[in-house]
Amino acid sequence: MNILIATSEVTPFSKTGGLADVCGALPGALKKLGHTPVVFTPGYRQVCEAGIELSSTNVTFEIPIGSKVVIGRLLKASMPESDVPIYVVDQPEYYDREELYRAEGEDYKDNCERFTFFCRAVMESIRLLELPVDVIHCNDWQTGLIPAILRIEYQHARGYENIGTLMTIHNMAYQGQFWHWDMLLTGLDWKYFNWRQMEFWGNLNLMKTGLVFADAISTVSPRYAHEIQTQPLGCGLEGVLQQRREFLFGIINGVDYSIWSPEVDPYLAANYSVDNWEEGKAACKQALQRRLGLPEEPNTPVIGLVGRLADQKGWDLVAGVMKRWVNSQPVQWAILGTGEAAYHEALKALAKERPDRVGVQLEFSNPLAHQIEAGSDIFLMPSLYEPCGLNQLYSLKYGTVPVVRETGGLADSITDASDENLSNGIANGFTFEPYDADVLELTLRRACDVYLSRRDTWNTIVETGMRQDWSWEASAQRYVDVYKQVCQQRVVAVEGAEAAQ
Ligand code: ADP
Repeated sequence: MNILIATSEVTPFSKTGGLADVCGALPGALKKLGHTPVVFTPGYRQVCEAGIELSSTNVTFEIPIGSKVVIGRLLKASMPESDVPIYVVDQPEYYDREELYRAEGEDYKDNCERFTFFCRAVMESIRLLELPVDVIHCNDWQTGLIPAILRIEYQHARGYENIGTLMTIHNMAYQGQFWHWDMLLTGLDWKYFNWRQMEFWGNLNLMKTGLVFADAISTVSPRYAHEIQTQPLGCGLEGVLQQRREFLFGIINGVDYSIWSPEVDPYLAANYSVDNWEEGKAACKQALQRRLGLPEEPNTPVIGLVGRLADQKGWDLVAGVMKRWVNSQPVQWAILGTGEAAYHEALKALAKERPDRVGVQLEFSNPLAHQIEAGSDIFLMPSLYEPCGLNQLYSLKYGTVPVVRETGGLADSITDASDENLSNGIANGFTFEPYDADVLELTLRRACDVYLSRRDTWNTIVETGMRQDWSWEASAQRYVDVYKQVCQQRVVAVEGAEAAQ
């Protein structure tokens, strides 16, 4: 099957979160299953500076955006490891910027325009490259216009008739909402600006657009697929999803173990596997403590956190527990993140108060993210919601026991160390349900107690997690099943339209 994956970020070219990891790994997994994926992504500064050679394709675009015509060109590279072709939409005015979506705490004002251009460039490239495409796999609001443009403008164009679309939701809270006049930028008729299609409470909503026009919808875990059909996690689009539930699938993300495995990770002080993890982790823990300026104490539990400093990730609960614990509980905190200023300040203050217990780096650092995964004993993810979450899956492989809130993909992947689950040999972490600092504190205490005084049980939990297989193979096959269903639907739709003529 020929699969075009359109994405606004992709590892190792550009990344702000899990979307990049997914789009970096899924193409290779699809190729291994015998399919032919290609990836399209914008030519951000990060992409051009990733150290991977970009070659020219001779394809240029002249795309109408509102009342102007914007010129761009298409470059090409290969995804490292898998060799899957990646096409890069080059338009320096839109993409040659410091960050992907925002600067100094504010979204770029022309985001609608930037991603409209990207979507139209993808659609034109199919024709200009004569690319065979069965399915376009769109990801998040940045690509939400593609299913609409395909159905409205390209439906009957040669080479496009049978193309199906899948829209994947990586995070429902980011919907690409813009004021209504941005409708002019999309080039689509105002008649589509209605509450059943592109409009949402007076605004243009590009996530909704994708959900309405795509042949099928998926999201990144079965639990989240349920959660977004209700308030509050549907973020206002729960009704749209309920209506389309027959075509809504939950497929958990996989892990790229060529990047996220302690056996091969180049950033670690020592590589290790389930057979020698105790020595390996001890070396990584010591290196992490040294790097973060924490005392090198082998038996003090290290609690790691890596992620965007956004409300979603439960930082208010974390800050609450840290304030209570920092002078009372002998644990160390290893924290990496960037985001909202209030959390930066709170974490900086805690690190200043107890530099011997709190190690914080407020930046984006891929090597340190790997080192925290390996060097911590516990990995904390008390998210308010979590579509899939990748860090808990990485933690399992690194022998770092996840403590998570039961939501979305966290609930689908982590099994609490209750007596029953332990005796069934399936416990791989600690979980709690109410979004509450007291409950988080109790759960963390439970984890620390097992670590400190029931070492055999702890080791069993670690090894259960390390032995699990969350690789892409099974998830990629699920995507293929959905792609097939999408194609089948398209064939039926096209045959139906022809019969009606
Ligand atoms: P989300 O996509 O909601 O941000 P995920 O858990 O799905 O969360 O994916 C987050 C990814 O981004 C992980 O690979 C994580 O290691 C990485 N990441 C997040 N923040 C940072 C940071 N400050 N430095 C390095 N990597 C980070």
